[in-house]
Amino acid sequence: MGRIYFDIAPFGGYPAGPGVYYECGVCEDFVPSIPRNAAACACRNIVVDADAGRVSVKDHARFRAFRTA
Ligand SMILES: [Zn+2]
Repeated sequence: MGRIYFDIAPFGGYPAGPGVYYECGVCEDFVPSIPRNAAACACRNIVVDADAGRVSVKDHARFRAFRTA
């Protein structure tokens, strides 16, 4: 699976959509940007609450977003 990484603006929000994933640099897990309900990486650095439309990231330096190619 190819990964094309997004440039993340500090206060610009996060990209989201089908085929878009968030990658955690702490546990190296990744989660879908639009999960069915909610999703989190193994260490919970990244938590996505789809119902609330909210993405919580504890350590932004260890956060990346990519889409599959
Ligand atoms: Zn993690």
